[in-house]
Amino acid sequence: MTGVQFENAQVLGVDGRFRPGSVILKEGVFGGDEDAAAVVERFDATGLWLTPGFVDVHTHLAWRAFDAADRDGLSPVEQARGVRLNAGRTLAAGVTGIRDAGGLSAALAQEAGGLRAALSVEMLGASDARGPAHLRGRVQQLADAGAAWIKVVATGGVGAGDGVLVPVFDELELKAIHVTAARLNLPVMVHAWGGAALTRSLEFGAASIEHAVLITDEQCRLAADAGAVVVPTVWIYNDVLAMIEAGTLPAVLAPAARRAVEAHPVAVRRCLDAGVRLAMGTDAGLDTQHGRNLHELAALIEAGVPSEAALLAGTAGGARLLGRRDLGVIRPGAPADLVCFTADPGRPEVLRDPSRVAAVYVRGRLLHQATG
Ligand SMILES: [Zn+2]
Repeated sequence: MTGVQFENAQVLGVDGRFRPGSVILKEGVFGGDEDAAAVVERFDATGLWLTPGFVDVHTHLAWRAFDAADRDGLSPVEQARGVRLNAGRTLAAGVTGIRDAGGLSAALAQEAGGLRAALSVEMLGASDARGPAHLRGRVQQLADAGAAWIKVVATGGVGAGDGVLVPVFDELELKAIHVTAARLNLPVMVHAWGGAALTRSLEFGAASIEHAVLITDEQCRLAADAGAVVVPTVWIYNDVLAMIEAGTLPAVLAPAARRAVEAHPVAVRRCLDAGVRLAMGTDAGLDTQHGRNLHELAALIEAGVPSEAALLAGTAGGARLLGRRDLGVIRPGAPADLVCFTADPGRPEVLRDPSRVAAVYVRGRLLHQATG
């Protein structure tokens, strides 16, 4: 394979800002100045904004419906087809790497078509709150099934209403999960809106807290000190509330969804003030949500995150959380995951418009190109 060079582009730097420049792709990695001589194809990229591949660290690639019953009723062939569809939409949005937050098995991940996927396989939730011994066994089981992450649902969500801060696991159970995961070298991602479950998860060494809708200043300080990453999901609660108001989701969920929509931007600003690292997560789990992944970055910007920081959360921030410091940056020698936008993705309206993604490369291979 020979070198390709995009010239006269706007290129995202490690500070989250765009600067005029060029990008070389060579044998699956980004090239440096010394590779210019090997370039055989040059593209005039005037009017294109180039970023590293985005990383969505909280998606459910195998899910297409809200109800677990609807998901479980699908045949393996239908499930595989769903993963292919979702992966195609996700790639087309400019996302080249994901961490699946539950539902994607190692077998189904084979259908993800070039998308880099870190798996949690299944979530540990209320049905697993059966004592520490049971949980030690479950963590081992997930490791055997190919999990690179252990996903814990430590509080309720929109469906829990006023009880959303009640811990799902008692302290000994939660500790058993973390200790067993650490022994197996598996980082833990914790769904926690707030409360004691969030604090304990940080104390037990959670790598990331998901949602953190009602995180307090004190918990933010704890997260910052521990180096834990917070993965807000601001956009999805707005999406859920819109579906409730349109009558496609039950009205009984409205108060909790409204609470999330109001509190979440405040939580994000608390994290910013405390210096907590953020990564981009969508919680996409519906047909209508996969492929709108960058809506989350638009929501973060509108919540008060500077666009530079939002773009970094969506690229290097997510890659770093996944232990892949070689991803999420345009740097000579790094795998060439590259996204070409036809407008500045530092602007929310561009992030909300997947048609602005002209091309997506993974390891230097063109996996998506806009048509028309
Ligand atoms: Zn989720």
